[in-house]
Amino acid sequence: MAMNLHTLCVHGSAKKYDSAGAISVPIFQSATFAHESLGRSSGFDYSRQQNPTREHLEITLANLEGGLDALAFSSGMAAITALMELFSPGDHIIASDDLYGGSHRLFSSVSVKNGLEFDFTDTSDVESVKRLIRPRTKAFFIETPTNPMMRVTDIRLIAELARNNDILTIVDNTFLTPALCRPLSLGADAVVHSGSKYLGGHNDALAGFLVVNDAGLSERLRYIYKTTGACLSPFDSWLIIRGIKTLAVRVSLQRANALKIAEWLKRHEKVEKIYYVGLPEHPGYEISKRQAEGFGAMISFQVDSRRTAENLLSRVKIIQFAESLGGVESLITYPMTQTHADLPEEEREKKGINDRLARLSVGIEDSDDLIEDLRQALEAE
Ligand SMILES: *Cc1c(COP(=O)(O)O)cnc(C)c1O
Repeated sequence: MAMNLHTLCVHGSAKKYDSAGAISVPIFQSATFAHESLGRSSGFDYSRQQNPTREHLEITLANLEGGLDALAFSSGMAAITALMELFSPGDHIIASDDLYGGSHRLFSSVSVKNGLEFDFTDTSDVESVKRLIRPRTKAFFIETPTNPMMRVTDIRLIAELARNNDILTIVDNTFLTPALCRPLSLGADAVVHSGSKYLGGHNDALAGFLVVNDAGLSERLRYIYKTTGACLSPFDSWLIIRGIKTLAVRVSLQRANALKIAEWLKRHEKVEKIYYVGLPEHPGYEISKRQAEGFGAMISFQVDSRRTAENLLSRVKIIQFAESLGGVESLITYPMTQTHADLPEEEREKKGINDRLARLSVGIEDSDDLIEDLRQALEAE
């Protein structure tokens, strides 16, 4: 039976694994599974390959993204690392130049050592992507909106360019989640997630996902998956299943809070620049409206001095100064020394990641409390 978003979040997969009628999917804390007889299997052999709890989660995510198959990894980086195993030395990948810091580090220090070649560019400018295509370009790796500068890429345009050149389109959908955007329906071939963020939603577990629409691609990734082994544990699978049950309600509250906060920050005299896709003056506003059902809950903003930034980070009380994003708790980060510390200074400055930039992941607390917290921290002397 076809299910809409809120129902899918709660029920995910109709497949049942127990005979007791448990409402909560059991945690199958078993490394291995018994065979009835030679050649007869329950469908489960060894948990590196598949586990019932993890399978429930994978079907849920595949359904949410409108994909054929989803693979659950022990972290987002484990998922992206496995994805890179699709490629061979000499293959070329064009990636957004404002990527999650960990993805940039993986590509530029580990994947490069394995012979993969990368170009980083502003993928919101399709022409600049087009110019970089070479005979051995095998994939576009897109993050939208980007982290932390919130640039928006038109997924349909990029996917069309990719299809015409036999290139895979990979979209990291961590920031918007399938509650707001489903890249496969816009033409992408693979979706990447850090499940540690909005999908889990409670800052209590790490997870990662790859979701694909093509049977051949799924088969190749399943082979890499069982071979390289960065699978998600049964307990963490269960935590993410539980998190996803409230994904749609969390995200809708988070983005409503984010819009109120962005409008308030925009008017604050100590805030010089604000990067929130949901403000109509944001350059990605119109594209985002076409390809997503909401603007998410991530805000970056630049304050007037390093001193104001330091005050802000040390004086917030409800909002916590911590890495990561997407959970029910609001978190503020300082990209310059946290997520983007590995980027060369010159590159960082050019992007606008300076000592006055903060990134806020808006949680589900009361928006008035969050605004009051920001006010007292920004206005401290
Ligand atoms: C956090 C994050 C990752 C990496 O995921 P982990 O679960 O921390 O390994 C990848 N992409 C984006 C956009 C992220 O925010």
